Amino acid sequence: MTTTLETIAERYVKLGLALEAHLPGYVDAYYGPDAWRAEVEVTGPRPVAALAIEADALAEALDADPELDPQRHDFLAAQVRAMQTSLRALRGEPLSLTEEAEGLYDIHPAWTDEAIFDEAHHELDDLLPPGGSLIERMIARRAVLEIPVEQVKSLLGEITAALRQRTKARFPLPEDEAFEVHFVKDQPWSGYNWYLGGCRSRIDINTDLPLRIAHLTGLLAHEGYPGHHTELANKELRLVRERGWIEHSIALINSPSCVIAEGIATRALEVLLEREEIIAWQAELFRRAGYDHLDARREHAIDEVGRKLAGIGGNAAFLLHDRGARDDEVVAYIQRYRLVTVEEARKTLSFLKAPRNRSYIFTYHYGGELLDALFAAAPLATLADRDAWFSRLLTEPVTPGQIRAWID
Ligand SMILES: [Zn+2]
Repeated sequence: MTTTLETIAERYVKLGLALEAHLPGYVDAYYGPDAWRAEVEVTGPRPVAALAIEADALAEALDADPELDPQRHDFLAAQVRAMQTSLRALRGEPLSLTEEAEGLYDIHPAWTDEAIFDEAHHELDDLLPPGGSLIERMIARRAVLEIPVEQVKSLLGEITAALRQRTKARFPLPEDEAFEVHFVKDQPWSGYNWYLGGCRSRIDINTDLPLRIAHLTGLLAHEGYPGHHTELANKELRLVRERGWIEHSIALINSPSCVIAEGIATRALEVLLEREEIIAWQAELFRRAGYDHLDARREHAIDEVGRKLAGIGGNAAFLLHDRGARDDEVVAYIQRYRLVTVEEARKTLSFLKAPRNRSYIFTYHYGGELLDALFAAAPLATLADRDAWFSRLLTEPVTPGQIRAWID
Protein backbone atom coordinates (compact mmCIF):
# COMPACT_ATOMS: atom_id res chain seq x y z
CA MET A 1 0.00 0.00 0.00
CA THR A 2 1.32 3.44 -0.88
CA THR A 3 1.54 6.00 1.86
CA THR A 4 2.00 9.16 -0.17
CA LEU A 5 0.68 12.29 1.36
CA GLU A 6 -2.16 12.58 -1.15
CA THR A 7 -3.23 9.06 -0.32
CA ILE A 8 -3.23 9.73 3.42
CA ALA A 9 -5.28 12.90 2.98
CA GLU A 10 -7.69 11.12 0.65
CA ARG A 11 -8.10 8.23 3.11
CA TYR A 12 -8.71 10.74 5.91
CA VAL A 13 -11.46 12.50 3.94
CA LYS A 14 -13.11 9.21 2.93
CA LEU A 15 -13.03 7.95 6.52
CA GLY A 16 -14.74 11.16 7.64
CA LEU A 17 -17.43 10.67 4.98
CA ALA A 18 -17.87 7.01 6.06
CA LEU A 19 -18.27 8.01 9.73
CA GLU A 20 -21.19 10.26 8.77
CA ALA A 21 -23.29 7.11 8.14
CA HIS A 22 -22.96 6.23 11.85
CA LEU A 23 -22.99 9.79 13.21
CA PRO A 24 -25.42 11.90 11.17
CA GLY A 25 -24.21 15.50 11.14
CA TYR A 26 -20.58 14.48 11.75
CA VAL A 27 -19.50 16.07 8.47
CA ASP A 28 -20.14 19.75 9.03
CA ALA A 29 -18.94 20.76 5.57
CA TYR A 30 -17.59 18.97 2.51
CA TYR A 31 -16.56 20.42 -0.82
CA GLY A 32 -14.05 17.82 -2.00
CA PRO A 33 -14.59 15.62 -5.08
CA ASP A 34 -18.23 14.57 -5.58
CA ALA A 35 -16.96 11.14 -6.64
CA TRP A 36 -15.59 10.46 -3.15
CA ARG A 37 -18.93 11.11 -1.52
CA ALA A 38 -20.72 9.09 -4.22
CA GLU A 39 -18.28 6.22 -3.61
CA VAL A 40 -19.15 6.17 0.10
CA GLU A 41 -22.87 6.30 -0.69
CA VAL A 42 -22.64 3.42 -3.16
CA THR A 43 -20.65 1.30 -0.68
CA GLY A 44 -23.26 1.91 2.04
CA PRO A 45 -22.47 2.04 5.78
CA ARG A 46 -19.27 0.12 6.58
CA PRO A 47 -19.05 -1.77 9.91
CA VAL A 48 -17.70 0.31 12.78
CA ALA A 49 -14.99 -2.30 13.41
CA ALA A 50 -13.70 -1.89 9.85
CA LEU A 51 -13.63 1.89 10.22
CA ALA A 52 -11.71 1.55 13.48
CA ILE A 53 -9.08 -0.60 11.74
CA GLU A 54 -8.79 1.99 8.98
CA ALA A 55 -8.42 4.83 11.54
CA ASP A 56 -5.62 2.94 13.34
CA ALA A 57 -3.90 2.21 10.02
CA LEU A 58 -4.16 5.89 9.06
CA ALA A 59 -2.57 6.95 12.35
CA GLU A 60 0.31 4.54 11.72
CA ALA A 61 0.74 5.66 8.11
CA LEU A 62 0.95 9.28 9.27
CA ASP A 63 3.69 8.53 11.75
CA ALA A 64 5.58 6.42 9.23
CA ASP A 65 5.72 9.12 6.56
CA PRO A 66 9.02 11.03 6.82
CA GLU A 67 8.13 13.55 4.13
CA LEU A 68 5.20 15.13 5.89
CA ASP A 69 5.19 18.84 6.51
CA PRO A 70 5.26 18.87 10.36
CA GLN A 71 2.27 21.19 10.74
CA ARG A 72 0.28 19.15 8.24
CA HIS A 73 1.25 15.97 10.08
CA ASP A 74 0.24 17.33 13.50
CA PHE A 75 -3.12 18.56 12.24
CA LEU A 76 -3.97 15.24 10.58
CA ALA A 77 -2.71 13.23 13.57
CA ALA A 78 -4.94 15.21 15.99
CA GLN A 79 -7.94 14.88 13.65
CA VAL A 80 -7.39 11.12 13.28
CA ARG A 81 -7.11 10.76 17.09
CA ALA A 82 -10.53 12.40 17.28
CA MET A 83 -11.91 9.90 14.75
CA GLN A 84 -10.48 7.04 16.84
CA THR A 85 -12.23 8.48 19.91
CA SER A 86 -15.56 8.73 18.06
CA LEU A 87 -15.14 5.12 16.96
CA ARG A 88 -14.40 3.99 20.54
CA ALA A 89 -17.67 5.62 21.63
CA LEU A 90 -19.51 4.05 18.69
CA ARG A 91 -18.27 0.64 19.76
CA GLY A 92 -19.91 1.19 23.13
CA GLU A 93 -16.84 2.03 25.20
CA PRO A 94 -17.97 4.21 28.12
CA LEU A 95 -16.02 7.48 28.08
CA SER A 96 -16.19 10.13 30.77
CA LEU A 97 -16.84 13.63 29.52
CA THR A 98 -13.21 14.56 30.20
CA GLU A 99 -11.86 11.53 28.29
CA GLU A 100 -14.20 12.33 25.43
CA ALA A 101 -13.16 16.00 25.29
CA GLU A 102 -9.46 15.12 25.46
CA GLY A 103 -9.79 12.60 22.65
CA LEU A 104 -12.10 14.58 20.41
CA TYR A 105 -10.84 18.12 20.95
CA ASP A 106 -7.27 18.01 22.30
CA ILE A 107 -8.34 20.03 25.37
CA HIS A 108 -8.49 19.17 29.08
CA PRO A 109 -11.75 20.51 30.48
CA ALA A 110 -12.35 20.79 34.21
CA TRP A 111 -15.15 21.91 36.49
CA THR A 112 -15.26 25.72 36.80
CA ASP A 113 -15.36 26.97 40.39
CA GLU A 114 -18.70 28.71 41.01
CA ALA A 115 -16.84 31.45 42.94
CA ILE A 116 -16.06 32.90 39.48
CA PHE A 117 -19.78 33.07 38.67
CA ASP A 118 -20.54 34.58 42.10
CA GLU A 119 -17.92 37.29 41.50
CA ALA A 120 -19.51 38.08 38.12
CA HIS A 121 -22.92 38.27 39.81
CA HIS A 122 -21.55 40.89 42.23
CA GLU A 123 -20.29 42.97 39.33
CA LEU A 124 -23.62 42.63 37.51
CA ASP A 125 -25.38 43.75 40.67
CA ASP A 126 -23.52 47.08 40.37
CA LEU A 127 -24.12 47.45 36.63
CA LEU A 128 -27.82 46.58 36.29
CA PRO A 129 -30.64 49.04 36.97
CA PRO A 130 -32.21 48.50 40.41
CA GLY A 131 -35.23 46.21 40.74
CA GLY A 132 -36.01 42.78 42.15
CA SER A 133 -33.66 39.81 42.37
CA LEU A 134 -30.53 39.67 40.22
CA ILE A 135 -32.06 37.11 37.84
CA GLU A 136 -35.18 39.28 37.46
CA ARG A 137 -33.06 42.33 36.70
CA MET A 138 -30.94 40.41 34.18
CA ILE A 139 -34.02 39.00 32.43
CA ALA A 140 -35.57 42.49 32.37
CA ARG A 141 -32.37 43.89 30.88
CA ARG A 142 -32.39 41.29 28.11
CA ALA A 143 -36.06 41.99 27.35
CA VAL A 144 -35.21 45.64 26.72
CA LEU A 145 -32.68 44.55 24.07
CA GLU A 146 -35.12 42.40 22.08
CA ILE A 147 -35.50 43.33 18.43
CA PRO A 148 -38.08 42.05 15.91
CA VAL A 149 -36.79 39.77 13.13
CA GLU A 150 -38.02 42.18 10.44
CA GLN A 151 -35.91 44.93 11.92
CA VAL A 152 -32.90 42.63 12.16
CA LYS A 153 -33.27 41.97 8.43
CA SER A 154 -33.17 45.68 7.70
CA LEU A 155 -29.94 46.13 9.72
CA LEU A 156 -28.04 43.06 8.50
CA GLY A 157 -26.70 44.61 5.30
CA GLU A 158 -24.95 47.54 6.93
CA ILE A 159 -23.55 45.51 9.86
CA THR A 160 -22.20 42.86 7.48
CA ALA A 161 -20.68 45.47 5.14
CA ALA A 162 -18.93 47.22 8.03
CA LEU A 163 -17.53 43.97 9.43
CA ARG A 164 -16.38 42.84 5.98
CA GLN A 165 -14.64 46.11 5.20
CA ARG A 166 -12.73 46.04 8.51
CA THR A 167 -11.87 42.35 8.15
CA LYS A 168 -10.52 42.95 4.64
CA ALA A 169 -8.36 45.80 5.91
CA ARG A 170 -6.77 43.77 8.70
CA PHE A 171 -6.82 40.09 7.76
CA PRO A 172 -6.61 37.83 4.69
CA LEU A 173 -9.94 37.45 2.88
CA PRO A 174 -10.46 35.74 -0.52
CA GLU A 175 -11.71 38.00 -3.32
CA ASP A 176 -14.62 35.77 -4.31
CA GLU A 177 -16.04 35.03 -0.83
CA ALA A 178 -19.64 35.77 0.18
CA PHE A 179 -22.39 34.51 2.46
CA GLU A 180 -26.17 34.62 2.66
CA VAL A 181 -28.17 34.91 5.88
CA HIS A 182 -31.33 32.85 6.48
CA PHE A 183 -33.73 32.80 9.43
CA VAL A 184 -34.72 29.38 10.78
CA LYS A 185 -36.57 27.75 13.70
CA ASP A 186 -36.41 24.67 15.94
CA GLN A 187 -32.64 24.41 16.36
CA PRO A 188 -30.56 23.93 19.52
CA TRP A 189 -28.12 26.72 18.52
CA SER A 190 -28.63 30.49 18.09
CA GLY A 191 -26.64 30.80 14.86
CA TYR A 192 -24.81 28.47 12.47
CA ASN A 193 -22.41 28.91 9.59
CA TRP A 194 -22.85 26.24 6.92
CA TYR A 195 -19.78 26.33 4.70
CA LEU A 196 -20.72 25.47 1.11
CA GLY A 197 -17.33 25.53 -0.64
CA GLY A 198 -16.27 27.95 -3.36
CA CYS A 199 -15.68 30.49 -0.54
CA ARG A 200 -19.47 30.62 0.09
CA SER A 201 -21.43 30.11 3.28
CA ARG A 202 -25.03 30.11 4.40
CA ILE A 203 -25.48 31.60 7.85
CA ASP A 204 -28.62 30.50 9.68
CA ILE A 205 -29.98 32.61 12.52
CA ASN A 206 -32.40 30.79 14.83
CA THR A 207 -35.46 32.75 15.91
CA ASP A 208 -36.77 30.30 18.54
CA LEU A 209 -35.51 32.69 21.19
CA PRO A 210 -35.59 36.50 20.96
CA LEU A 211 -32.85 38.30 19.01
CA ARG A 212 -31.19 41.24 20.78
CA ILE A 213 -29.90 44.46 19.30
CA ALA A 214 -26.74 44.48 21.43
CA HIS A 215 -25.71 41.02 20.20
CA LEU A 216 -26.30 41.29 16.45
CA THR A 217 -22.85 42.60 15.56
CA GLY A 218 -21.19 39.94 17.71
CA LEU A 219 -23.32 37.21 16.11
CA LEU A 220 -22.32 38.28 12.57
CA ALA A 221 -18.66 38.60 13.60
CA HIS A 222 -18.80 35.08 15.13
CA GLU A 223 -20.45 33.42 12.13
CA GLY A 224 -19.17 35.66 9.33
CA TYR A 225 -16.44 38.32 9.51
CA PRO A 226 -13.82 37.49 10.80
CA GLY A 227 -15.28 34.28 12.34
CA HIS A 228 -16.33 30.91 10.90
CA HIS A 229 -16.98 31.96 7.28
CA THR A 230 -13.72 33.90 7.08
CA GLU A 231 -11.68 31.02 8.48
CA LEU A 232 -13.17 28.38 6.19
CA ALA A 233 -12.96 30.56 3.06
CA ASN A 234 -9.31 31.36 3.80
CA LYS A 235 -8.47 27.71 4.40
CA GLU A 236 -10.15 26.69 1.15
CA LEU A 237 -8.11 29.28 -0.78
CA ARG A 238 -4.74 28.89 0.99
CA LEU A 239 -4.70 25.21 1.86
CA VAL A 240 -6.97 23.37 -0.56
CA ARG A 241 -6.69 25.45 -3.75
CA GLU A 242 -3.12 26.75 -3.43
CA ARG A 243 -1.41 23.78 -1.75
CA GLY A 244 -3.69 20.86 -2.59
CA TRP A 245 -4.14 19.96 1.10
CA ILE A 246 -7.44 18.23 0.44
CA GLU A 247 -7.98 17.28 4.09
CA HIS A 248 -9.33 20.78 4.63
CA SER A 249 -12.19 20.17 2.17
CA ILE A 250 -13.98 18.32 4.98
CA ALA A 251 -14.93 19.84 8.35
CA LEU A 252 -15.64 17.35 11.13
CA ILE A 253 -17.90 18.49 13.94
CA ASN A 254 -16.18 16.43 16.70
CA SER A 255 -12.52 17.26 16.15
CA PRO A 256 -9.77 19.62 17.40
CA SER A 257 -10.34 21.98 14.45
CA CYS A 258 -13.61 22.96 16.20
CA VAL A 259 -11.66 24.39 19.16
CA ILE A 260 -9.68 26.62 16.81
CA ALA A 261 -12.87 27.54 14.93
CA GLU A 262 -14.82 28.48 18.09
CA GLY A 263 -11.78 30.26 19.56
CA ILE A 264 -11.57 32.41 16.43
CA ALA A 265 -15.34 32.97 16.42
CA THR A 266 -15.79 33.83 20.12
CA ARG A 267 -12.95 36.38 19.90
CA ALA A 268 -13.79 37.63 16.38
CA LEU A 269 -15.40 40.95 17.30
CA GLU A 270 -12.84 42.05 19.87
CA VAL A 271 -9.95 41.20 17.56
CA LEU A 272 -11.56 43.28 14.85
CA LEU A 273 -12.55 46.33 16.91
CA GLU A 274 -11.03 47.91 20.00
CA ARG A 275 -13.22 48.32 23.06
CA GLU A 276 -13.98 52.01 22.41
CA GLU A 277 -14.68 51.29 18.73
CA ILE A 278 -17.19 48.60 19.69
CA ILE A 279 -18.93 50.95 22.12
CA ALA A 280 -19.08 53.76 19.52
CA TRP A 281 -20.36 51.35 16.85
CA GLN A 282 -23.04 49.97 19.18
CA ALA A 283 -24.15 53.48 20.25
CA GLU A 284 -24.60 54.44 16.60
CA LEU A 285 -26.45 51.19 15.83
CA PHE A 286 -28.76 51.70 18.84
CA ARG A 287 -29.49 55.27 17.71
CA ARG A 288 -30.33 54.32 14.14
CA ALA A 289 -32.51 51.38 15.22
CA GLY A 290 -34.50 53.55 17.64
CA TYR A 291 -32.91 52.12 20.79
CA ASP A 292 -31.13 55.32 21.79
CA HIS A 293 -32.40 54.96 25.36
CA LEU A 294 -29.78 52.19 25.77
CA ASP A 295 -26.37 53.05 27.20
CA ALA A 296 -23.87 51.34 24.87
CA ARG A 297 -21.04 51.62 27.41
CA ARG A 298 -23.03 49.94 30.15
CA GLU A 299 -24.35 47.22 27.81
CA HIS A 300 -20.79 46.48 26.77
CA ALA A 301 -19.64 46.31 30.39
CA ILE A 302 -22.46 43.86 31.21
CA ASP A 303 -21.45 41.64 28.28
CA GLU A 304 -17.80 41.75 29.35
CA VAL A 305 -18.73 40.57 32.84
CA GLY A 306 -20.90 37.91 31.19
CA ARG A 307 -17.73 36.31 29.79
CA LYS A 308 -16.93 35.15 33.35
CA LEU A 309 -20.01 32.93 33.05
CA ALA A 310 -18.51 30.99 30.10
CA GLY A 311 -17.86 27.90 32.26
CA ILE A 312 -21.53 27.35 33.12
CA GLY A 313 -22.31 25.29 30.00
CA GLY A 314 -19.39 22.94 30.71
CA ASN A 315 -20.44 22.52 34.35
CA ALA A 316 -23.98 21.75 33.19
CA ALA A 317 -22.55 19.09 30.84
CA PHE A 318 -20.61 17.51 33.74
CA LEU A 319 -23.76 17.53 35.89
CA LEU A 320 -25.87 15.95 33.14
CA HIS A 321 -23.46 13.36 31.74
CA ASP A 322 -21.02 12.51 34.54
CA ARG A 323 -22.89 13.23 37.74
CA GLY A 324 -26.32 11.86 36.93
CA ALA A 325 -28.24 15.10 37.48
CA ARG A 326 -31.88 15.22 36.33
CA ASP A 327 -32.95 17.57 33.52
CA ASP A 328 -34.79 19.91 35.91
CA GLU A 329 -31.70 20.12 38.15
CA VAL A 330 -29.52 21.05 35.18
CA VAL A 331 -32.04 23.67 34.02
CA ALA A 332 -32.14 25.14 37.55
CA TYR A 333 -28.31 25.24 37.68
CA ILE A 334 -28.09 27.06 34.33
CA GLN A 335 -30.81 29.52 35.38
CA ARG A 336 -29.22 30.22 38.74
CA TYR A 337 -25.77 30.99 37.40
CA ARG A 338 -26.42 32.30 33.88
CA LEU A 339 -29.41 34.36 35.07
CA VAL A 340 -31.66 33.39 32.16
CA THR A 341 -35.30 32.44 31.60
CA VAL A 342 -36.37 28.81 31.89
CA GLU A 343 -36.82 28.74 28.09
CA GLU A 344 -33.22 29.81 27.54
CA ALA A 345 -31.91 27.31 30.09
CA ARG A 346 -33.93 24.54 28.40
CA LYS A 347 -32.36 25.54 25.06
CA THR A 348 -28.90 24.98 26.54
CA LEU A 349 -30.06 21.64 27.95
CA SER A 350 -31.32 20.54 24.53
CA PHE A 351 -27.93 21.49 23.03
CA LEU A 352 -26.14 19.40 25.69
CA LYS A 353 -28.42 16.42 25.10
CA ALA A 354 -27.65 16.15 21.38
CA PRO A 355 -25.03 13.35 21.26
CA ARG A 356 -22.63 15.26 19.02
CA ASN A 357 -22.77 18.32 21.31
CA ARG A 358 -22.28 16.93 24.80
CA SER A 359 -18.56 17.71 24.87
CA TYR A 360 -18.69 20.29 22.03
CA ILE A 361 -19.88 22.80 24.65
CA PHE A 362 -16.26 23.05 25.92
CA THR A 363 -14.90 24.24 22.56
CA TYR A 364 -16.29 27.78 23.04
CA HIS A 365 -14.88 28.37 26.50
CA TYR A 366 -11.55 26.59 26.00
CA GLY A 367 -11.06 27.82 22.41
CA GLY A 368 -11.56 31.42 23.54
CA GLU A 369 -9.22 31.05 26.52
CA LEU A 370 -6.55 29.45 24.35
CA LEU A 371 -6.58 32.50 22.07
CA ASP A 372 -6.51 34.87 25.06
CA ALA A 373 -3.42 33.05 26.37
CA LEU A 374 -1.77 33.15 22.95
CA PHE A 375 -2.35 36.88 22.52
CA ALA A 376 -1.14 37.58 26.07
CA ALA A 377 2.02 35.53 25.52
CA ALA A 378 2.99 37.22 22.24
CA PRO A 379 6.55 38.61 22.66
CA LEU A 380 5.55 42.26 22.87
CA ALA A 381 1.81 41.63 22.95
CA THR A 382 1.24 44.52 20.55
CA LEU A 383 -1.81 44.72 18.33
CA ALA A 384 0.33 43.89 15.30
CA ASP A 385 1.48 40.67 17.01
CA ARG A 386 -2.09 39.76 17.84
CA ASP A 387 -3.23 40.39 14.26
CA ALA A 388 -0.35 38.28 12.95
CA TRP A 389 -1.31 35.36 15.22
CA PHE A 390 -4.97 35.71 14.27
CA SER A 391 -4.05 35.68 10.56
CA ARG A 392 -2.07 32.49 11.08
CA LEU A 393 -5.06 30.86 12.78
CA LEU A 394 -7.22 31.89 9.81
CA THR A 395 -4.89 30.41 7.21
CA GLU A 396 -2.83 27.56 8.71
CA PRO A 397 -3.71 24.06 9.96
CA VAL A 398 -3.43 24.67 13.70
CA THR A 399 -4.29 22.40 16.64
CA PRO A 400 -4.90 23.31 20.30
CA GLY A 401 -1.65 21.46 21.11
CA GLN A 402 0.26 23.66 18.68
CA ILE A 403 -1.13 26.82 20.31
CA ARG A 404 -0.05 25.50 23.72
CA ALA A 405 3.43 24.86 22.28
CA TRP A 406 3.57 28.41 20.85
CA ILE A 407 2.61 29.81 24.25
CA ASP A 408 5.36 27.80 25.97
ZN1 LIG B 1 -19.43 29.04 16.49
